[in-house]
Amino acid sequence: MLYPSLSTTSQFRRLLPDDRLIFTEGAPGGPAFLIESGQVLIFRERDGIEVEVARLGQGDVFGEIALLDGGVRTASARALKDALLFEIDPAMMRRHIDAADPVIGMVMDILVSRLRSVVGPGGYLRPDTMPRQTTESLLGQMRTEREIARAIRLEQFVAALQPIVSLADGAIAGFEALARWQHPERGIVLPGGFIPIAESARLVGYIDWLCMKAACLTLRRVKDEYGAVADLWWVSVNLSGTHFAHPETVDRIAAILKETGLPPSALKVEITETVLVSDIDAAASVAKSLRDLGVRIALDDFGVGYASLAYLHRMPLDTLKIDRSFIDQVTASPQSEVIVRAMLSLGESFSLTTVAEGIERADQAERLTALGCHYAQGWLFARPMLEAQLLPWLESYR
Ligand code: C2E
Ligand code: CA
Ligand code: CA
Repeated sequence: MLYPSLSTTSQFRRLLPDDRLIFTEGAPGGPAFLIESGQVLIFRERDGIEVEVARLGQGDVFGEIALLDGGVRTASARALKDALLFEIDPAMMRRHIDAADPVIGMVMDILVSRLRSVVGPGGYLRPDTMPRQTTESLLGQMRTEREIARAIRLEQFVAALQPIVSLADGAIAGFEALARWQHPERGIVLPGGFIPIAESARLVGYIDWLCMKAACLTLRRVKDEYGAVADLWWVSVNLSGTHFAHPETVDRIAAILKETGLPPSALKVEITETVLVSDIDAAASVAKSLRDLGVRIALDDFGVGYASLAYLHRMPLDTLKIDRSFIDQVTASPQSEVIVRAMLSLGESFSLTTVAEGIERADQAERLTALGCHYAQGWLFARPMLEAQLLPWLESYR
């Protein structure tokens, strides 16, 4: 089957094993295909030899990149198992990308630029010069990026709140919001499964804002229910260093506070040391505006990055969070204890509140209390919880 023909309607096509489908991506009106079922091998012919580009299965799409960048490249597909393909009408797809969905449009632009970096002179991915693993991980990453973009649109990202308690008396002081992906098939996905990819695809900002909004809403509801006891409770929300210093950050946060009705004093923003190192002037200016708004700032994972005293001095910080890697060893290794002591006294000299992360055992909590740390967070007290679990937990903790 050859596809120079104009196809304007979407339709199904069956590809039997060893049927070949030569498709020219980017030919005017040339379609892309969604694999409904079966397995398809995509290859390119070079000097009469089949060079495998990818093996795709149910739910995968091929031929779509050229619809986006208009580049013409020829490849062939062969069914490995009886395959049912859904032919995607390019005009429909383009309309969808241009008009209906700015997020998808942006993702596609990123994907196209990423693919260009591995496209050879022949105009197709160079599987012969690219290790097979790279081809596969590239395709895998593209699929995940597409899935993340879709999940953002469907607002599948929510916030789990983990309590932060005062070491002096065990009372709840606040919460950290941790992003969770409520995946329709995979269930709850932890941040390690999407934050790094979302960061590299420049999608993490959307997740951060969804998570912040959800966290602010939850805390507002909790405050409404608990009244005076909860007056000083705050929620700490992670913001990726890749967009913290963006000019719109302050306006976004102000808008979320207004929309959710949470007072600015109940919000903390957690940033890591990478924010400070990448552009300290821009970061300091955003931090100062947040401070003026009444939002506080915590330095996360303190001790694992590069923050120097000079940076600390320039940021209007409120809180230092001591990384779990130091807490792990605090009761076992005298060296870790020395480091934790130094960090706590640094916090004290900058008048910062201190939070120890990842407390799993009572002996760790006792040692940190003795060392003068203010707050603690960890499985010893509670795991991160979605709103539906948090409310009963609060009842039992009362
Ligand atoms: P983090 O900010 O250092 O968050 C603390 C992580 O430690 C969380 O993992 C939390 O579940 C885990 N943790 C808490 N207590 C304990 C404990 O006692 N023991 C152990 N072993 N672990 C504990 P999680 O939820 O998987 O988050 C991982 C990282 O993902 C976070 O590290 C943060 O860097 C990032 N992240 C999470 N949510 C967001 C978000 O909304 N935006 C951005 N940009 N990053 C996020
Ligand atoms: Ca954090
Ligand atoms: Ca942390």
